[in-house]
Amino acid sequence: MRVKFWGTRGSVPTPGPSTVRYGGNTSCVEVTTSRGTLLVLDSGTGIRELGLDLMARGKQVDGHLFLGHTHWDHISGFPFFTPAFIPGNRLRIYGARDLDRSLQDVLAGQMHYTYFPVPLGDLRADITFHELDEGELRVEDVRVRTQYLNHTAVTMGYRLEADNASVAYITDHEPYGLSLVPPGGETQPEVGRGLRGDFIHGGDQRLIDFVRGVDLLIMDTQYTPEEYQAKRGWGHSSTDYVTDLAVEAGVTRYALFHHEPTHPDDGVDAMVQYCRDRAAESGSTPLEIFGAQERQTIEL
Ligand SMILES: [Zn+2]
Ligand SMILES: [Zn+2]
Repeated sequence: MRVKFWGTRGSVPTPGPSTVRYGGNTSCVEVTTSRGTLLVLDSGTGIRELGLDLMARGKQVDGHLFLGHTHWDHISGFPFFTPAFIPGNRLRIYGARDLDRSLQDVLAGQMHYTYFPVPLGDLRADITFHELDEGELRVEDVRVRTQYLNHTAVTMGYRLEADNASVAYITDHEPYGLSLVPPGGETQPEVGRGLRGDFIHGGDQRLIDFVRGVDLLIMDTQYTPEEYQAKRGWGHSSTDYVTDLAVEAGVTRYALFHHEPTHPDDGVDAMVQYCRDRAAESGSTPLEIFGAQERQTIEL
């Protein structure tokens, strides 16, 4: 299984000299199995260059796009995904069922003529929509499992298994337990402490079980622990929580992902170092930790 990051940024694209290494495009990850099955996780602005890359490979595109949720930074690249315009290509789009609109309507909405010149219905590829609940499905040679996350929109986390390897894609997500502690409230536990203690929230335990033992965990690590104190309820995780969760779940390695737009490259470097130090302190078995970089490829 090959994983390639095409967009690693959260919230909004951040081109510029301070984000060259980790990248400025928003969420998009390509997963390819040894048999050539193509899965794409999210269609942030990173999917534009993935589309050009797929076209350059000179074959018909037949792939599966899994949307974690439909905030802009996860869908706004879709209208610029060239393979969707080409007859003969095939694209199956999956995502969580929204509260009051279909997945197709949500994507069509951002392509209304007020915002974009080509409506969704005019795309020439064969495109179908598949709404998901929690559970499991088979996509060619890939076993896909789904679990809802804790975010400000209906959001799905994914676990993909193929080629005797596994990857989990958990974004956007905020801790269950600690997001319930009001800012400035009397109880201010150290973020993540619950994961090693005895008062872990059931939702966090469920997520730990979901990602247990994966070869690669790609996870929302938008904030430092200090930043998170001021951003509770915004729907994103901090480095201490994610590190503790990864340790608890016994994952082989994890990628910091959905980088905060205001964080320059050296800021992300510092977050990676913090996570490595925290994991080492836990005395856990070796856990490889890195910051996801645009165009970086991982073989699993
Ligand atoms: Zn996001
Ligand atoms: Zn979001």
